[in-house]
Amino acid sequence: METSLALDFLGDLRRTHNCGELRAADEGKHVCLMGWVHRRRDHGGVVFVDLRDRYGLTQVVFHEDIDQAVHNRAELVRPEYVIAVEGEVKQRGANAINPNLATGEIEVVATRIWILNDSRTPPFPMEDQVDVAEEVRLKYRYVDLRRPRMQHNIILRSQISLAIRQSLYAQGFLEIETPFMGRSSPEGARDYLVPCRLNPGTFYALPQSPQIFKQLLMVSGFEKYFQIVRCFRDEDFRADRQAEFTQIDIEMSFPQQERVFETVEPLVERICEVAGYKVPIPFPRLTYAEAMRHYGIDKPDRRVPPMHPVEDLVPELANQGLPLVAIHIPGTGPASRKERDELKAFGQERGLRVYDDFKRLERDFPAAMARVRERCGAADNDLLVLAAWGGEPKGHRPEETVYQACGQLRLFSAQKFADRHKLLDPQNFQFLWVTDFPMFEWNEEENRWTAAHHPFTSVHDEDLEKLATDPAHCRAKSYDLVLNGVELGSGSIRIHRRDVQAKVFAALGFSEEEARKGFGYLMEAMEYGAPPHGGIALGLDRLVMILAGESSIREVIPFPKTARGADLMSDAPSTVPERQLRELGIAIRGHGK
Ligand code: ASP
Repeated sequence: METSLALDFLGDLRRTHNCGELRAADEGKHVCLMGWVHRRRDHGGVVFVDLRDRYGLTQVVFHEDIDQAVHNRAELVRPEYVIAVEGEVKQRGANAINPNLATGEIEVVATRIWILNDSRTPPFPMEDQVDVAEEVRLKYRYVDLRRPRMQHNIILRSQISLAIRQSLYAQGFLEIETPFMGRSSPEGARDYLVPCRLNPGTFYALPQSPQIFKQLLMVSGFEKYFQIVRCFRDEDFRADRQAEFTQIDIEMSFPQQERVFETVEPLVERICEVAGYKVPIPFPRLTYAEAMRHYGIDKPDRRVPPMHPVEDLVPELANQGLPLVAIHIPGTGPASRKERDELKAFGQERGLRVYDDFKRLERDFPAAMARVRERCGAADNDLLVLAAWGGEPKGHRPEETVYQACGQLRLFSAQKFADRHKLLDPQNFQFLWVTDFPMFEWNEEENRWTAAHHPFTSVHDEDLEKLATDPAHCRAKSYDLVLNGVELGSGSIRIHRRDVQAKVFAALGFSEEEARKGFGYLMEAMEYGAPPHGGIALGLDRLVMILAGESSIREVIPFPKTARGADLMSDAPSTVPERQLRELGIAIRGHGK
């Protein structure tokens, strides 16, 4: 294939127009386009090339009788060759108009062509839907990203990043960077460690989030900080997790929860607008306790109606003073015996006693069931199932254990009948704030309380005294933003006083020595005029995923890793030469030991 290695022959050739942007009004213009050959069709004497760039496609025509040499050269091009063409924009004949293409009314009649590069046959076609394993797409990611759908996703992500900056700058926020190489600290997940060559045996840690630094920026008086920032967590592999992910990280001084909500709501409204959706603000709110009672989960999907505790209406069916819950899924029509058995089995596996035969309950408890129906607002065509706890109370907050199991049954039922009720429309965006989380969660493995959010979260003023005596019932000044059953972000009003922080570390079982070692600099900063402060971090990957209508965050991350943490394109992680290890003073003990 004759292509010139030197591009000098191009002279001062200049791309004058984008392929996707030519319209009927450009008729008669002399244009120079550059892009990728999407398709080529030979019709004896005439070659058609659909030329593609990030803006779309234009049909370019090479007529033998306009210029034989140019036509012959066009015959050589193949899909994904990179070419430049010069020519004139012409209106297409009436029967050649393609109404499905933005540029479908015109074509460019070429007078010159340059082949800028050839291409091996691509591993899959550049179409929206490709029937190919994800591994192949990830190995050839640079080609995969050329597909229109991926271009759309990545461009949307860029537009959202711009909107975030515009919204937050307009609200007086400053974008301030924080280090990627910091100190390992004993909060939350496992750190990724970076060995320090100049001081062998010591390590930096990549940040799980800029949490401590953003708090320090508040101590420094910057008042309103944000960053679109990468975070790193060395967690076990899970389907929709990435070792590195991006947060919209926000912190502000002197806020109440309300001030944080007032900042985030217009931000999210603007982000949705960029993606073409109008969402009403302010967002509704539920406390964690209400979310548990009515959804059995801290990230309710409000597209499906809530469940209702009904032990007051039918105390006979409740067990040991624990909740009896009515689960209501509208528009399912009558459930078959088999479907009811599946619901029952699902609930039983989670410790529930499931009353799946509502007709029978109505015969046995007619008056009470009429009131259950009324409380749920359930129509005749809806599914109603009651569930109680099957055994002994379990956990430090036993009612919650029951609600959680019921919440799972609710979601299972909602999914099961999704085709019938059609409520799980991905474009029905139901945002929600969940507030007042518990301060602590019991960690079975470590047999101790851990921070439900993170150890810098304020406790409710009325619960301060309970920190040492009743940690199970301390509420935090923390909040989550939830969308359709997905947690989009978490935040809190922080502790800004050293004495309170020390109490919380104590409740978490950190010795003074451990607290000093892990967080000494933060504790010390609190002694130098730390203002009250609070903030939030929203997961950018998930937000873009939902707004792009995708179901995996890998579809909106340019170069993601597999669920097993591998980059299939560059083959990372990889071993390194012995010399590099020696420089770092590192010896490998053996794999998996
Ligand atoms: N740093 C927290 C997180 O990554 C968010 C916050 O509290 O602002 O979850």
